[in-house]
Amino acid sequence: LLFAYDPARRLARLQVNLERAIVNARMIYEVLDIDPHQPDVPDAKELVVTKGEIRFEGVEFGYAVASPVLHNVSFVAEAGKTTALVGPSGAGKTTIVNLLPRFYDLDGGRIFIDGQDIAGVTKHSLRDAIAYVSQHPYLFEGTIRDNIRYGRPGATDEEVEQAARLAYAHDFILEQPDGYDTPVGEGGSTLSGGQRQRISIARAVIRNAPILLLDEATSALDTESEVLVQKALDDAMSGRTVLVIAHRLSTIARADKIIVMMKGRVTEQGSHSELAELENGIYARFLKLQALGIDGSENLGIQVTPV
Ligand code: ADP
Ligand code: MG
Repeated sequence: LLFAYDPARRLARLQVNLERAIVNARMIYEVLDIDPHQPDVPDAKELVVTKGEIRFEGVEFGYAVASPVLHNVSFVAEAGKTTALVGPSGAGKTTIVNLLPRFYDLDGGRIFIDGQDIAGVTKHSLRDAIAYVSQHPYLFEGTIRDNIRYGRPGATDEEVEQAARLAYAHDFILEQPDGYDTPVGEGGSTLSGGQRQRISIARAVIRNAPILLLDEATSALDTESEVLVQKALDDAMSGRTVLVIAHRLSTIARADKIIVMMKGRVTEQGSHSELAELENGIYARFLKLQALGIDGSENLGIQVTPV
């Protein structure tokens, strides 16, 4: 109890909370203009999303001068389809996903959404078009309702509930002591990993954005949660352009297009069956080894798990 009133400790705690909140805001692409970088160009236009096609054209990027991370990255994520980014850790998958909401400027090349160069549109309109589901769902202090509504601050209670239903979260939420008004986050009600995931999916769903960025979880949930989270994701993905950092063979094989990344370059791209037939392809090699019962998944950062 004494500790709780120690000003230094309180300050330290506040600092940690603030840092987490900032990281979180970036992660879920809050509209708040918290990053001072990448100001809009003077004549920036509003992004108009008609279909939701994403096009990378010769993208070059590095976090620091003289240490490039992406080299000549080109691909199209077709409107309404799912495109899976596959590759070992450090290949550049997360970087690609971070360039889309313009957290960083490019060193070369361009990124288009429905033919509009994202460098020329307002950041606000760009981020409005994007929803994100992280590998590590973050719930901040507040009620379940607050945590879902955070995806779109003006949403009504009905819309919050509708999003929760779509994310297979409504039933477990009603089982909480105060339903939607149950506090969560630090010091709040303890939810399972799968329940937290579904709240974060509801938060993305309520944005109703045409583009969904998904960082697939690598850690396994219990089987029941796994099934519900997968159902929730399938619903959230339908009708949207999805760019998924994929680790599971099941997700990868079902994607409309697979982009294989190695050391910052796209080395292969195509559908599962196209890549499976590619001579000397790394993905094809992985599948062949797989068929022989040899696990070559590590090279590609793929997890071969059921579900
Ligand atoms: P992946 O998601 O495929 O594992 P990343 O996009 O996270 O790969 O990383 C690609 C490369 O960029 C790695 O070499 C990584 O160390 C580097 N990198 C990632 N994030 C940063 C950052 N914020 N600052 C500097 N380097 C980074
Ligand atoms: Mg990553």
